[in-house]
Amino acid sequence: GKGAAMVTAVAYRLADQSRQITETLAEFRLTNEQLLEVKKRMRTEIQNGLSKSTQDSATVKMLPTFVQSTPDGTEHGDFLALDLGGTNFRVLLVKIRSGKRRTVEMHNKIYAIPLEVMQGTGEELFDHIVQCISDFLDYMGMKNTRLPLGFTFSFPCRQTSLDAGILVTWTKGFKATDCEGEDVVGLLREAIKRREEFDLDVVAVVNDTVGTMMTCAYEESTCEIGLIAGTGSNACYMEEMRNIETVEGDEGQMCVNMEWGGFGDNGCLDDIRTEYDRTVDDLSLNPGKQRYEKMCSGMYLGEIVRNILIDMTKKGFLFRGQISETLKTRGIFETKFLSQIESDRLALLQVRSILQHLGLDSSCDDSIIVKEVCGVVSHRAAQICGAGMAAVVDKIRENRGLDHLKITVGVDGTLYKLHPHFSQIMHQTVNELAPQCNVNFLLSEDGSGKGAALITAVGCRLRQELNS
Ligand code: BGC
Ligand code: MG
Repeated sequence: GKGAAMVTAVAYRLADQSRQITETLAEFRLTNEQLLEVKKRMRTEIQNGLSKSTQDSATVKMLPTFVQSTPDGTEHGDFLALDLGGTNFRVLLVKIRSGKRRTVEMHNKIYAIPLEVMQGTGEELFDHIVQCISDFLDYMGMKNTRLPLGFTFSFPCRQTSLDAGILVTWTKGFKATDCEGEDVVGLLREAIKRREEFDLDVVAVVNDTVGTMMTCAYEESTCEIGLIAGTGSNACYMEEMRNIETVEGDEGQMCVNMEWGGFGDNGCLDDIRTEYDRTVDDLSLNPGKQRYEKMCSGMYLGEIVRNILIDMTKKGFLFRGQISETLKTRGIFETKFLSQIESDRLALLQVRSILQHLGLDSSCDDSIIVKEVCGVVSHRAAQICGAGMAAVVDKIRENRGLDHLKITVGVDGTLYKLHPHFSQIMHQTVNELAPQCNVNFLLSEDGSGKGAALITAVGCRLRQELNS
């Protein structure tokens, strides 16, 4: 009868919907061949970044850091550190003691950087930073001591020495004017002078990946790689000087800040990017740039999810076909929400309450779909991050002419730390794609701050040696 026909029609519509949803998400499920391709292409781009003839146009910039050794335990002293460019801006006091009982004591304070400062003028940004340092020194009662300072600045910088770094381009949520092309240490020193309140000795500018590697290397000498899977994505590693054609000298090693976030900016990942990746890129502060980062870091995963959800809602598969103002809002799905939604211990009812909290009214079916969308997006992110890392470890292995390499990666970042599956999928991918390497991942506790202090300590020691 009529009733049965209607039931059949509904069943068909649902089956068709679920087929279309599956098809949309299928593009995010990469095959092993595709992942091996990503690894291979990363390897090509690494080479382009290292070679003199190709480095100018390279998308993986392979920036020298002038860090030429990992810590040896003799580092000591009191240091200030700044950590700019992650989820939080922090000022830290780090006290390192050497000798039989090595200790690192840290005090830190988190400061907000308002959006209008992140995207205002460079002068305002650096004045704000110095204002925070001033507050911190008051808080610690240390205004009158001229401390050496390490500046963890988590953006691509072209360094000519430990204490000079020209900002190549802003990434993530930053866009302050008059900074690109400038030495950020110079900008900081000028802002300190402008304030005429205290003096500091800026010794080193440090990428967060490098700080992370150094912090882990302090505990574990096999650590020669740093990885950040957080707001942004990047890695660094100890490369042979003879392979770094952009720096004089062939002896020893130097840590290279890969800036792998730019991987794909020449179109080499276009075959795996989806329409949603393109939308996220187009709507970002830096269209066409950091394409790999936009597929695998915390700042963008939620945006990919949001764009898929908008598309599915338009097609009538979700939220009763109603695109709410909330869903139109950029940045609603922060890493911490994605992590909660994907948590295994969470019942669907709780997923619904998280969505509710974000301002999204969902049915039970909606919440199932949302969770699935989050799952495929973060799974792909972890896999392509692992594919990139597989390229790095194999490069190091070949540098050393080894059949087998045992190595440790120091890792930090909110995505790595908070997400319930990211780390495990990433580890597994590295193991599968680089079977000749035995890769151990070590979580860095407070990598950026501690690492900056360790590098500053080395910088101070080298300076004393030069002067004596
Ligand atoms: C920056 C890198 C940084 C990474 C992780 C990227 O956007 O370009 O310098 O290491 O984010 O914070
Ligand atoms: Mg950080």
